[in-house]
Amino acid sequence: MIDMNVFHGFLEAIRHLPEMAQPPQMGDAQRVERAKAVMRAKMDRGLALDLEACVHCGYCSEACHFSQSTGDPKYAPNRKLDLLRRFHARETSAFAPVKRLFVRDITADDLREFQELCFDSCTECGRCSMVCPMGINTARGVNVMREALYEAGLAPLELTAVAQEQAGRGTVFGVGPQELRQAVEAIRAEGIAVPLDEPQADVLLVTTVIDVLLYRDAFAATARILNHLGLRWTLRSAGFEAANFGLLAGSESLQAEASRRLVDEALAIGARTVILPECGHAYPALRWDATREDGSALPFEVLAVSEFVGREVTAGRLRLRPSSDRGTYTYHDACKLARHGGVMEEPRAALKALGVDFRETEPTAQRNWCCGGGAGAFLINRAGSLRHQAWEIKREQIEATGAATGADTVVVSCASCRLNFMAGAEQDAWPVRIASLVELAAQQLPVDA
Ligand code: SF4
Ligand code: SF4
Repeated sequence: MIDMNVFHGFLEAIRHLPEMAQPPQMGDAQRVERAKAVMRAKMDRGLALDLEACVHCGYCSEACHFSQSTGDPKYAPNRKLDLLRRFHARETSAFAPVKRLFVRDITADDLREFQELCFDSCTECGRCSMVCPMGINTARGVNVMREALYEAGLAPLELTAVAQEQAGRGTVFGVGPQELRQAVEAIRAEGIAVPLDEPQADVLLVTTVIDVLLYRDAFAATARILNHLGLRWTLRSAGFEAANFGLLAGSESLQAEASRRLVDEALAIGARTVILPECGHAYPALRWDATREDGSALPFEVLAVSEFVGREVTAGRLRLRPSSDRGTYTYHDACKLARHGGVMEEPRAALKALGVDFRETEPTAQRNWCCGGGAGAFLINRAGSLRHQAWEIKREQIEATGAATGADTVVVSCASCRLNFMAGAEQDAWPVRIASLVELAAQQLPVDA
């Protein structure tokens, strides 16, 4: 059961984030210099090709929820790379000496203008790349822009504040080991075993501030499933936060530091598997980007909880009781899990095992629409209306899955998507139930579980 007071308290905390940020102070010349240093360091053959290959066909605008929902050409995906393109033309392209004569140099005001384009109005969802005839990876270019803006001290204050808190105090929204222990005690009080700080385990479960504070049922549901499967698992209070605000703010070093805490704990207990909570961006942060300290590959597998549950169902190790709910269900693919991570079959396998009346959205899976709240956009206060406009596309897509409001339940497997759905639903008085995949699965465990 979600406590709406906690949800509203969380929204209120987001409103105050800018007061906590301590962005680096520097002059405009230094901002430009630092941003350019990042652009130069990141300019590899793939990025250079992406910047040179655009044929201005406009297909990507039709695929981008911000561009589509606003109709504003400034949100066109290819435009989001214009500043990087200018840098490349002047400084790293084959004809740079010539291009410098007629391509304008980057200014600090340009960087300020692009903050909105690369943070508020791009969730790095990757949908535009699915339709681009040139295969341009706009999300990667936007990520480079985020890193350049962060280095220039121009990342949004909200993301800067949380990234600095995570790096400095090791907490996120004030949630650290003590708050984790309190959440664990509360779950144990429900009769659910939650191993904490075991010295050895096969599975390290990590969680996130949102689950500790708001979606505690998802946290408890994951514990119940792991217990039911008889796995030797644990949480570790020294490294439990899956959300990575270094990644979202555009700081590679803070991203690596946040991942390091999880990797160190997994190595310390000899984990063979790390299970991530319902958190979209935690997946690329740990699975694709994280390494051991020496840069070598992680010696354990990293699975999203939806991926883990679906895999166990498919393997026959997790048998779920069919649900008696006769309502209709649909599934929202989180971009970082599905389009970027390939986690599409597993959540559907779990939903199939529930035996519910399931209806796919159109389009679905890797072409599914983004909800508009990912990649930290949910935390940016001034982006509220833009985000809501983008979410309306998602809402219409779900409403088209059936009569009246479409499916009765939309299942999600990302806390950030879930927050954005809840905010959108509250604003529009939308009656569709928003449910967590792992919670639904745990509700259908065999009765003796
Ligand atoms: S779809 Fe690709 S080629 Fe066409 S405008 Fe967008 S980025 Fe350029
Ligand atoms: S990555 Fe997603 S949000 Fe960003 S420009 Fe492309 S479609 Fe739009």
